Order: sequence, then structure tokens, then C-alpha cells
Amino acid sequence: MSGFETRAIHAGQDPDPVTGAVVLPISLATTFAQEEVGRHQGFEYARTDNPTRRALEECLASLEEARFGFAFASGMAAEDAVLRRLVPGDHVMIPDDAYGGTFRLVAKVLAPAGITWTAVDLTSPEALAAAMRPETRVVWVETPTNPMLTVVDVAAVAEVAHARGATVVVDNTFATPYLQRPLALGADVVVHSSTKYLGGHSDVVGGFVATDDPALAEHLGFVQNAVGAVPSPFDCYLVLRGVKTLAVRMDRHSENARAIVALLAEHPAVARVCYPGLPAHPGHEVARRQMRDFGGMVSFVAAGGEAAARAIVAETRLFTLAESLGAVESLIEHPAAMTHLSAVGSPLAVDPGLVRISVGIETVGDLVDDLRHALDVGAAAAADARSPGWRSAFGRRRRVSDRRR
Ligand code: PLP
Repeated sequence: MSGFETRAIHAGQDPDPVTGAVVLPISLATTFAQEEVGRHQGFEYARTDNPTRRALEECLASLEEARFGFAFASGMAAEDAVLRRLVPGDHVMIPDDAYGGTFRLVAKVLAPAGITWTAVDLTSPEALAAAMRPETRVVWVETPTNPMLTVVDVAAVAEVAHARGATVVVDNTFATPYLQRPLALGADVVVHSSTKYLGGHSDVVGGFVATDDPALAEHLGFVQNAVGAVPSPFDCYLVLRGVKTLAVRMDRHSENARAIVALLAEHPAVARVCYPGLPAHPGHEVARRQMRDFGGMVSFVAAGGEAAARAIVAETRLFTLAESLGAVESLIEHPAAMTHLSAVGSPLAVDPGLVRISVGIETVGDLVDDLRHALDVGAAAAADARSPGWRSAFGRRRRVSDRRR
């Protein structure tokens, strides 16, 4: 098998046999001619299969070193397709800091349909073993998790789950197949929000599922066609185009994240940094074993709590205050009020002082300067909150905001 970067550029994408075009043409046709009933060139109707989507599925499956791959209209549609295998009475295990959308799908869509669930600390195989039930069909893993960057030992989870006959699904969105290949670690299914690093440019929403299991593949292909939550050919093209540079982007994301983490680790506005590359991170050794590098996602808890977190995210200029992650531009957000709002009041609620950063691939010194300035504001907000009598947080904010203009 050729190298990762080669497959990212060529898998599923030979030059067009008709014109020689080196970039795969976007195939917009919704239907395909048949010479006689049932005799055609492999395509009938575009929801079922189309050339651009097939190229994307071949390319991404090749990157995950999987036999089968299925593209969906979003990461959530991909997750839904996997979980549609469950029937009333089945039980699913989710991480106790799962992505808010996964929690919402399980707790608010599947649960009313008769599927039960438990949120468990997947960093502890013992806790997982204790929580497993005879009817547990799926153990849903995210590693690193969104937004806490918790690292889960996929091989250890697979051992427990497989001993009880459950399927292991890994959401590989944060790591990407460049940094981590869950199937090789023992997982049965990999899911992605290709909206993130696979697309890489904040211009396409998509999802992907890979597996080696023919029975699961048959289920996924059936649901993809029967439900029809499929990506458009143009969206498939955008992900294909994005993935060509995945390896170089992930190297730079990881490198820039190291500099950002170094700043956070020494800044007084920061109480705690969550990054698997830090030797003090509880999952550091596992991450070193199962990941090539530690990626571009970083979270931290502001020392001044929620007020300071909100002040910091409002103050950056290069880091755009926005949801989503995994693209070339740096983003910053406040999970409790933004991406993880759906988990408020649940056992999966996040610390309101938490800030999540998606470190982009801009010039690293510019990123460090921008964040340092915002952290200084956060530190001042925390100091003001401690002694409001002599300096108002508002006054300090206004002075700094002048600088923004
Ligand atoms: N999984 C993770 C880890 C995510 O961060 C997200 C979105 O943020 C999703 C799944 C859902 O993907 P999408 O937004 O493409 O539906």
C-alpha cells in the first residue's frame, strides 16, 4: 500500500479516462443511462451512488485503511446511520464527556424510541466493564473527546466490549486518520464529521463512516440509500480537495498547538490546560501510543471562571469566535454556551469556565500574540471580579476594545 499522503491525493481519483483531467470532474447527474433494463456502467440514481461520492468514499476508506466507506450529509447523519442498527431494548454506552450532538442524538432521539444509554468514564476499562449490560450493543468512543480532550485507550475498550459481544465505534474527528487509525487499534467502526479536519476549510458540512465488517457495511449502505442523508457531489468534491493536504495541515496544526499550549501553561489567566501532548495529561501515555501527534485542539479552564472565559473569547482578533473546528483558520469558543449547550443540566454538562480553541495554521507568532492579549484581558477580568471596588471590569474591557478598532 502506498503512503498516506499519496493515497490522500490519488486514492479513488485516477485521471479522467475521457479527457485526462487530473482533477476529478464533479458529476452532477442525478440519473444514469441504461443500455437495457439493469445494464449500466455502475450507477443508476445519484442518491444510491454517484461517481464523485464514490471517489470520496474510496479515498477516505483508504486513509482509514478500511474495506468499506460511506459518505453522509453531516457528521450527525453518519452517527445516526451507525446507531440505526439498534432496536428498542438495546443499550448504548457513551463517553461521559461525549460531543454534545452525540449526547443529544442518543438521549433525545434514540431514547424516546426505546434505546437505553449510559454515560461512562471510558478512560477506565473497569468502569466500562461494570457498566456493561447483557443488552449493550454499542460502545461509542471519542478520542480525543470534544471538548475536554480526554484520551481513551481504544484497544482496552475494544477488549472489554468485544468480550461482551458489543460493537466499538470510534469518532475520529479530532485526530483524523493521519494521526490515529481506530480500526487498527481494534475498533469496528470509525465515524467522522468531515466538516472538520477532512474538509479543513470551513466550507463544507459532511460525515463519513468506515468499517471492515461486511454486515455493518451492508447496513450502512442500506441506510445511506433508504434514508438519503447523502452529501451533494459538490460537497464530496470539497472534502476530496481538502483531504489532499490533510497530512501537511495536521503537522502544522499540531506544531502550532504546541506553542499555544506553552503560552497557556504559563499564563495566570489559565487554571488548567487540556491537551494530550502535555506529559501531565492523564491520557498522555495512551495518546503517545495510539496517535502520531497530538493534533490542533486545545481546551483550558479560565482561572476567573465563566466571566473571564467569556471575556477571553470576545477579545481575540485572529482567533475567530465561532463554533466548529478543524479548519485552516484559528477559532475560539465557549462550549457551555455554544457547542455544548445541549448538554447543560445533564451529567455531560461542561465547566462554564472552559474555553475551546481550534489552532489553525496561521503564522504561529501571530497566534501567540493574539491569544496572549486576550488572556491578559481575562486575567484583568478575574482580578476585577476579586476586587470590584477599585477597578471595574467594564472599564478595563472598554480600554482593550479600543485597541481592537
Ligand atoms: N463528532 C464530533 C467530535 C464533532 O465535533 C461534531 C461536530 O462538531 C460531530 C461529530 C457532528 O458533525 P457535524 O457537525 O458535521 O454534523
